[in-house]
Amino acid sequence: MPGLEDLYREIILDHYRSPRNRGELATPPAVRVEGFNPLCGDEVVVYVNVSDDGKISDVAIDGQGCSISQSSASMMSAAVKGKTLAEVSDLTQTFKAMMSIHETNIGGIADEPMEPVEGVNLGDLEALRGVVKFPTRIKCATLGWNTLAEAIVDATTEEA
Ligand code: ZN
Repeated sequence: MPGLEDLYREIILDHYRSPRNRGELATPPAVRVEGFNPLCGDEVVVYVNVSDDGKISDVAIDGQGCSISQSSASMMSAAVKGKTLAEVSDLTQTFKAMMSIHETNIGGIADEPMEPVEGVNLGDLEALRGVVKFPTRIKCATLGWNTLAEAIVDATTEEA
């Protein structure tokens, strides 16, 4: 009988082989931000549209790299599409808590790992839980999220 680790491996490979929301969006109205992880050579390009009512109305992912970086970005895109920026913030915090990231809300370094937000369901993203055992790969898993955060800042600070 397949164990949880096999199931998680299958989910990661499925997103790597069939990435969700793969492609590009027209800029403008979308913003485009490139993220790099020099430790592994991963590249994730995030395109995002934020609607006037503060939702991720569309998202697309491009780039190349290891299976962890690309599958995490694919799962992220599926998880944030249609969500409000507040929901995306909760999801990001909960994912980073799973990755045991020590970060303050304003991007500084904290003594303690981030806390998950109560009631937030990570869905497929749970499959990346095992990555925390491999500290060098955590940056692969968080690359898409950090790139998305930058894109949201760009999208929400643009002149109307
Ligand atoms: Zn990587």
